[in-house]
Amino acid sequence: MPYAEVIGDPIAHSKSPLIHRFWLDAMGIAGEYRAERVSADGLKAYFESRREDDDWCGCNITIPHKETALDHVEDRGDVRGSIGAINCVLRAEDGALIGTNTDAAGFYAPISGLPLDGAHAAVIGAGGAARAVLFALSQVGIGRVTLFNRNALKAAGLLATFGIKGDAVPLDAPLPPVDLLVNASPLGMAGQPPLDLDLAPLPQDALVYDLVYAPLETPLLARARAREIDTIDGLEMLIGQAALAFELFFGVQPPRDRDDELRALLLR
Ligand code: NAP
Repeated sequence: MPYAEVIGDPIAHSKSPLIHRFWLDAMGIAGEYRAERVSADGLKAYFESRREDDDWCGCNITIPHKETALDHVEDRGDVRGSIGAINCVLRAEDGALIGTNTDAAGFYAPISGLPLDGAHAAVIGAGGAARAVLFALSQVGIGRVTLFNRNALKAAGLLATFGIKGDAVPLDAPLPPVDLLVNASPLGMAGQPPLDLDLAPLPQDALVYDLVYAPLETPLLARARAREIDTIDGLEMLIGQAALAFELFFGVQPPRDRDDELRALLLR
């Protein structure tokens, strides 16, 4: 039976199996989607074993393998030279294992209608998720990014990597009046400190997008909604990147008209 997986360490928290199994069931596809804990030391052996397994369609990749997995698969789309991290590996028709990234497109899909060309965005965080966000924003001609990170030097390096104009600032710097605010850090996630940012400078027509999805209503989103500022929650990107991966694994688009049911399942 064809199957795909999500690999990481730890992996028990991953919501990917719920999402992909929901779509497999909904479409009546005889396939499976499993979670597999793979340690950093086991990554090479994992890909070697899957290369020999004709039922294996591919895998999603989560922390901590998004960068190192590139060493074990083909990088035909030069992801290393662009986003610098993969979240998906698929088996090509010629049997090759190809690394790709669906996080950037998954992030961008819900904001694709916004006039971001020349806009000013603030992004919190400078890790793997921020790389996908900055890559997407660089592709649509963002005018300026204020990048908040506790390690501002690392943030400055990321802006340079993506050729984005802007400033790298520490987490306690004041928020400028941006068009788009994106939290790409774990701040606000269950068990993590909240994101302590004064939203007062945000204009009323700004958009606040939080990549954190546990809890779904983060304190950041709650404060934005209290001011009647538009928001996007982390499940949008999670489902969006998964939908692109599902199509790569199983060759069909998942039924996105059932997103409400899927969101309810993920929140249960
Ligand atoms: P990551 O690579 O570990 O990067 C985390 C970033 O946040 C780093 O820049 C780090 O700062 C900063 N950070 C971490 N803990 C912090 C703390 N206590 N105080 C201040 N800054 C802190 O993680 P990631 O993969 O980018 O993920 C970031 C968040 O996005 C997670 O909550 C993840 O669940 C979420 N995410 C969501 C989706 C989705 O589909 N919705 C997809 C990917 C990620 P330093 O650079 O200084 O270390």
